[in-house]
Amino acid sequence: MGYDETYRRSIDEPEAFWREQAALIHWHTPPERILDQSHPPFRRWFVGGTTNLCYNAVDRHLATRPDQLALVAISTETNITREITYTELYREVNTFAAVLGELDVVKGDRVVIYMPNMAEAVFAMLACARIGAIHSVVFGGFAAHNLALRIDDAEPKLLICADAGMRGGKIIPYKPLVDLALREAKSPPPHVLIVRRDLDPDMTLVPGRDVDYAERRVAHEDASVPVEWLESNEPSYLLYTSGTTGKPKGVQRDVGGYAVALALSMTTIFDVAPGQVMFSTSDVGWAVGHSYNVYGPLIGGATSLLYEGLPTGPDPGIWWRLCERYGVRTMFSSPTGIRVLKKQDPSWLKKYDLSALRWLFLAGEPLDEPTATWISSGIGKSVIDNYWQTETGWPAITLLPGLELKPVKFGSPGFPNLGYRMRIIDEQSGADVAPNEKGVLVIEPPLPPGCLTTIWRDDERYVRSYFGHFRELLYSSLDWAVRDTDGYTFILGRTDDVINVAGHRLGTREIEESVATLGAVAEVAVVGIHDELKGQVPAVFATLKQGVTDDPRDVALAMQRRVVELLGGVARPGCVYVVNALPKTRSGKLLRRSLQALMQNTDPGDLSTLDDPNALEEIRAVIARGPHCGASAS
Ligand code: ATP
Ligand code: MG
Repeated sequence: MGYDETYRRSIDEPEAFWREQAALIHWHTPPERILDQSHPPFRRWFVGGTTNLCYNAVDRHLATRPDQLALVAISTETNITREITYTELYREVNTFAAVLGELDVVKGDRVVIYMPNMAEAVFAMLACARIGAIHSVVFGGFAAHNLALRIDDAEPKLLICADAGMRGGKIIPYKPLVDLALREAKSPPPHVLIVRRDLDPDMTLVPGRDVDYAERRVAHEDASVPVEWLESNEPSYLLYTSGTTGKPKGVQRDVGGYAVALALSMTTIFDVAPGQVMFSTSDVGWAVGHSYNVYGPLIGGATSLLYEGLPTGPDPGIWWRLCERYGVRTMFSSPTGIRVLKKQDPSWLKKYDLSALRWLFLAGEPLDEPTATWISSGIGKSVIDNYWQTETGWPAITLLPGLELKPVKFGSPGFPNLGYRMRIIDEQSGADVAPNEKGVLVIEPPLPPGCLTTIWRDDERYVRSYFGHFRELLYSSLDWAVRDTDGYTFILGRTDDVINVAGHRLGTREIEESVATLGAVAEVAVVGIHDELKGQVPAVFATLKQGVTDDPRDVALAMQRRVVELLGGVARPGCVYVVNALPKTRSGKLLRRSLQALMQNTDPGDLSTLDDPNALEEIRAVIARGPHCGASAS
């Protein structure tokens, strides 16, 4: 069956469709009902079935693939590579689970994990899943304040951290950040479990509170900890959204629906069979990291590559070298990651044998055509744009090459994933828009398995933030989209990234894309700024490619002209600034509201997720000197 037929079936006969898919995982007791929709917009999948994520990811493969690699954790920071078979993973996870038990962590307790991409982060997650504890991984790059906010929301029984992480050869001690966060937090956990990497010789332990994992594990090396069978809809984990638009939300995931969705995606979307290798460059702290560095590949009996290091360290060939060494079939990364490589010598793309590699998936932000074409022709592979949200937990709009490869259309992630009832509707009337007309991307309930079940301890916020935008009960993605006559969906940016010029509503993304067609431009961000006459006008911030020696004023003028040429005079940028770096969140997403605040001297809101606060200071200085083209803001 091809995509169209399979998709139709998932929408028209959801219960029959998902009953079949349920067989992809192991159930301790089979579901009594496939779908319960008695309290919309809430829904429960596989009601009454009991299962366990860790069992499906680890135990289940012991009989069939005990000596196959389950996890390869590579660090070009510490220069340590660990190749871990399913049997070894089983041992490590049981040992970890036994230590959790010794620290009184039981089913339903939250455990915050604050670690870099290292094998123990995976052991810790799986150990929590095994005993029914709810993990909440906080990206290791977040500062103490971000961590404290998440601790207070999750109220964990335990925090697990590494002594330190590393980035570009620089040691980043985590433990002092944890100490700070716990001082700030209103509900600090009674214990901190520390996995030492001996990176921070100055680390001190707080007696009675801090526990050294290495010391505790020796007593449990042969432990075997029973699996806690959970009802399909019980919480498995919490994961906070990136906070690009505001206060992060604690996305809550279930057990059974999530496992089934991931199992299905491994073959239909990612085209990875048991025994094959998947390499996601994400961090365990992001949604992609949870689903495709940890649970997805392991549930699918594949080998997962986990990488700690820069895309350029020790050299820009590292990703492709790993693809060659491990025979990676499917790779998963982000447009930001590729743009980093794009600044490097393209010959690095050609140095390694990539014959095993079939697909490169990119997700997390708009994939612009120049970046997609550059990498696709550079490595000679199909590049598949993937539209996701932390909330969805697995792709929402994608091509499904494992089922049927439809032609790639640059700029579009493709079609709705199986089970997603997607519509594009008018912001005001809520009516479906015609093809090629822009609207808000919404999902009609029930959300498919894999998607969030609620916001942690805040059902009301869940309903209000996602389902409160239209008369009908619809999940709003808060993203603009358009569908062409072939059924391909294009994402046009966030609903709050809109500029109103003299009554015309322009998406910042459209303007950014026209600027990006100029060869000299590396990255671009557009925000709307106040204008006496027109209400708002676009302000352009752009970085130039390495090696571009043109006068920034000429390039700025060319940008302005290009926008007018492609979008018309109404979109004419009021000013263009050439800068060294754009403000991004730790997950690599543009933080446009920070630029807007700089331009207008308004409150930028929460900036604690910014990757590099210095970038903003630099931009402030550039703004003070005046634009490279156009008029000053003031
Ligand atoms: P918050 O919701 O806290 O403001 P966030 O939306 O940035 O943060 P994520 O869930 O990590 O947090 O990001 C999801 C968003 O990223 C999507 O809603 C969309 O705006 C953008 N996005 C993801 N993938 C794509 C893609 N392939 N093309 C275009 N945009 C994408
Ligand atoms: Mg979001």
